[in-house]
Amino acid sequence: ARLLSASSCSGRLAGKVAVITGAASGIGKATAAEFVKNGAKVVIADIQDDLGHAVAEELGGSDTAFYARCDVTNEAQVAAAVDLALARHGRLDVMFNNAGIISGTSPIESMDLADFDRVMAVNLRGVAAGIKHAARAMVPRSQGCILCTASTAGVLGGSAPHAYSVSKTAVVGMVRSAAAELAARGVRVNAISPYGIATSMAKRGVREMLGLPPVGTDTDDEEVIRRVFEEDFNEMGGGVVLRAEDVARAAVFLASHDARYITGHNLMVDGGFSVG
Ligand code: NAD
Repeated sequence: ARLLSASSCSGRLAGKVAVITGAASGIGKATAAEFVKNGAKVVIADIQDDLGHAVAEELGGSDTAFYARCDVTNEAQVAAAVDLALARHGRLDVMFNNAGIISGTSPIESMDLADFDRVMAVNLRGVAAGIKHAARAMVPRSQGCILCTASTAGVLGGSAPHAYSVSKTAVVGMVRSAAAELAARGVRVNAISPYGIATSMAKRGVREMLGLPPVGTDTDDEEVIRRVFEEDFNEMGGGVVLRAEDVARAAVFLASHDARYITGHNLMVDGGFSVG
């Protein structure tokens, strides 16, 4: 069903314009929906064209949600996604650098460095490109909010493949570095670090870690995967399982006026996993 933008004049993000990378699926998609619900207009930036168009359509289409193909490893495409927001709406208020991949589970002695480079190109260089072009759009207006998806794997070793962990630690470093420079220029930069959520990326990663065949080859494994996310990854008592919507709501908070003095922060959305 189309999510009508009746809330566009009210809501915590009323009138704000956002670009969200990786918004065709998972956390990005949930955040796009939550942003629209709160009155924002969103550019759905991703490389999965069919899914991206469908998400845009679902969220109201045309003026409210627009799909733009944007491979974050390609700086020109990141620049173009920002320019599209400026052209359609005249401003960019929120840039959510959320696109990410996970890959490689081999022991460090046999780590594939080409794979390492691929992960870094999306998870770190893609975020750097997003911060760069968002700052270009935001600094002249002395306002704006940049969010970047890191991970609990960025603060704890041993919970994800090496390249992934390193890329997420570096995202937090990039956020601090950019926040320090941009605070005096009116732009906030924050990271959000979720724990495990059963999105397509994370399910693929868990399958690889457990040595299970890729999705589609053995559907019986779905139950194993479900248990990993809902039981093993569930650190909260009372049956609270982390969902993409929980991360989306944290993003709404950080993007809202309520967080106007918060910058350079890494907000853990992890049920206490990283402090346990
Ligand atoms: P997902 O696979 O559902 O979504 C990731 C999206 O990023 C996909 O739509 C994919 O097409 C897109 N993408 C991949 N490469 C891209 C590129 N080069 N350019 C543009 N888009 C690209 O997975 P998700 O879990 O929603 O992942 C979103 C972010 O959350 C990632 O940065 C991920 O590392 C992070 N994260 C996920 C978890 C988890 O358990 N799901 C935990 C911590 C952090």
